[in-house]
Amino acid sequence: MATTTAPPESVKQIAYLAAALKAPRILEGASRLADQARDAGWTHEDYLATVLEREVSARNASGAELRIRAAGFPAVKTIEDFNWDTQSAVRPQVGSLTSGAFLTEARNVVLLGPPGTGKTHLATSLGVVAARLGHRVLFATATDWVTRLTDAHRHGKLPAELARLRRYGLIIVDEVGYLPIEQDAANLFFQLVSSRYEHASLILTSNLPFSSWGGVFGDQAVAAAMIDRIVHHADVITLKGASYRLRGRGIDSLPSTRTTAHETEN
Ligand code: ADP
Ligand code: MG
Repeated sequence: MATTTAPPESVKQIAYLAAALKAPRILEGASRLADQARDAGWTHEDYLATVLEREVSARNASGAELRIRAAGFPAVKTIEDFNWDTQSAVRPQVGSLTSGAFLTEARNVVLLGPPGTGKTHLATSLGVVAARLGHRVLFATATDWVTRLTDAHRHGKLPAELARLRRYGLIIVDEVGYLPIEQDAANLFFQLVSSRYEHASLILTSNLPFSSWGGVFGDQAVAAAMIDRIVHHADVITLKGASYRLRGRGIDSLPSTRTTAHETEN
């Protein structure tokens, strides 16, 4: 290949244009990739595509970091950190979600199972996947969501808040069922579920089976209508077994008081 070096004016102009575009990696990569392009005989299109691709992937990576920080995860956990030995039965199901297709299809994910089986871990991991794929994510417990929606409602801003939340590709509602939700609050929560239905994804986690959600939301009809919308397009993943937190502590199981209490209430 004929090796012609770029005239210094062009390099200066690239520096100026890259700064104007706020794309510093274009400047970093342009000269180096130009040498590589000349050596390897790339077409002009190949060269331009490679330069732009570097910029785009660097932007995506820093965007993902920001989205992960903004999501409000209690701790950042990834699928790679998850030990499948205790949950091998759900590995294919969770694995198929990591493509992120569920987000573009506005499907939901429900993680059910006793305390310590990895529900929050997996919900967070899928949130991290979503953030890496460019979706905005928000994580909070069911109780926190209720507080947030109640505040918005009190200030007459519920529709605006729901509209704002619809711009998030993924909302995670952790710990449905740990605390009962007042009937008025349950209605607000129902509106959150409705506003996202077939529009954007939700991930919910619960230690209770759906049959006990009526007790949580204080109203069988609201719970039934909500579950109907949630599971219409959803992957329901049921985790089983002993708490991961108690591994190797010589404690086999936790008293499942909440499940029992709600089931006898209903
Ligand atoms: P849950 O939400 O079901 O109560 P968590 O997801 O909070 O349980 O899990 C409890 C703790 O144990 C967390 O620190 C989590 O990261 C860890 N953990 C649970 N299951 C696994 C697993 N299979 N592999 C690795 N860590 C796990
Ligand atoms: Mg949890």
